[in-house]
Amino acid sequence: MLVNENLVQDIVKEVVAKMNIAEPAGGKRGVFEDMNDAIAAAKEAQKVIRRMSLDQREQIITNIRRKTRENAETLARMGVNETGMGNVGHKILKHHLVADKTPGTEDLHTTAWSGDRGLTLIEMGPFGVIGAITPCTNPSETVICNSIGMLAAGNTVVFNPHPQAIKTSIFALNLINEASIEAGGPDNVACTVTKPTLESGDIMMKHPDIPLIAATGGPGVVTAVLSSGKRGIGAGAGNPPALVDETADIRKAAGDIVNGCTFDNNLPCIAEKEIVAVDTIADELMHYMISEQGCYLISKEEQEKLIATVFTPKGALNRKCVGRDAKTLLGMIGVTVPDNIRCIVFEGEKEHPLIAEELMMPILGLVRAKDIDDAIEKAVWLEHGNRHSAHIHSKNIDHITKYAKEIDTAILVKNAPSYAALGFGGEGYCTFTIASRTGEGLTSTKSFTKSRRCVMSDSLCIR
Ligand code: NAD
Repeated sequence: MLVNENLVQDIVKEVVAKMNIAEPAGGKRGVFEDMNDAIAAAKEAQKVIRRMSLDQREQIITNIRRKTRENAETLARMGVNETGMGNVGHKILKHHLVADKTPGTEDLHTTAWSGDRGLTLIEMGPFGVIGAITPCTNPSETVICNSIGMLAAGNTVVFNPHPQAIKTSIFALNLINEASIEAGGPDNVACTVTKPTLESGDIMMKHPDIPLIAATGGPGVVTAVLSSGKRGIGAGAGNPPALVDETADIRKAAGDIVNGCTFDNNLPCIAEKEIVAVDTIADELMHYMISEQGCYLISKEEQEKLIATVFTPKGALNRKCVGRDAKTLLGMIGVTVPDNIRCIVFEGEKEHPLIAEELMMPILGLVRAKDIDDAIEKAVWLEHGNRHSAHIHSKNIDHITKYAKEIDTAILVKNAPSYAALGFGGEGYCTFTIASRTGEGLTSTKSFTKSRRCVMSDSLCIR
């Protein structure tokens, strides 16, 4: 029997009407007081999504894209106001990037074999309800990006967002559910709780209706997810070095590195966090960064003051410094600079705390290397085995190849700012969940599917 569009719509309406789920909290769609209720609601919604055609799923995603574009400025302002981190203009660009370049259902591919014994297909099927944990550094960007990919794959999703970004995350989730309803889909395709905590995250990770967990954040959350006994996608921390050798266009490298490093005040996990430069061009690179790229060179004394400010006495990152602009950070140590200053620079050893640690602040320490081999060794050390992201400015193919093999990261950008890796000024799709630790790399719809073999014996081969 051919199932026509009207019949599918009727079935969807009937199932939606029969859904017996808790009332959403606070007038926002997809938001519940209790994590168990959020999961139950997402489970009911997934039964509906599962019965919708791919075209209907794609209509929901088209609506999410439109609403993200329409609300890009609101989401950007909310994110900056709530977390105190980042830059509104850059966050607007990030939301447009998510809306325009996150893959949808077109990312689902079928593999087929046909022959005398019939036809066999491998299809990409949904898991069901996915549990997602999201960071405060890109809160709504990650919620929307994850939702598009997970829904396109036929799943629904329950989020345990960072508590410091819950209002922004709830605003994004409300838009996603409105987008679904307006396209004839169910409510609660993406859910959360009013007060996410480590406990609500734990309930989610242990819940029998959550077969897959996607965690985007620092090392703690990735380890927690990978210890949960469930399948986990772990998108963890990075500390990307930008290597510059003697063959690079040094003036362009200075611009690219500072543009990438200062994007959204260095919040993206892929952003340049330190420089390793070959000795013969290190001074020239520093000269262009200071004279043309709005960089402020800090003295040894200012470095000490900055260390005492950006780290707590116990050595943790001072959250009041993460994602702040260079002028604000310098203001915290009593240094007043003009508005055009966008990055703080200095030269130091690779073990310097402002170089070795992932700061997520526009602070770029330059480590000098005697030649390319020394530079590669230092950059590999600085990446700390995260296998996340690294960048290089070079015209020597052998140098680039050797670096790529040694550092073994999910992302390696050549001769461009780091954000080219997200499709911003570079080819390819966008994601805000880069799963270096578990190997999916830049996640997309297919990352949220399971492989299913479908066999028809002796028939349907028509060759
Ligand atoms: P974070 O690790 O403090 O928090 C991330 C999320 O994990 C939050 O929702 C938090 O509540 C939760 N969480 C933290 N510890 C947990 C634990 N033990 N158990 C369960 N949940 C836990 O990170 P953040 O400050 O929000 O984000 C910045 C970090 O995330 C940086 O290290 C950055 O590199 C990384 N990051 C990685 C990617 C990527 O795609 N790989 C993307 C964005 C951010």
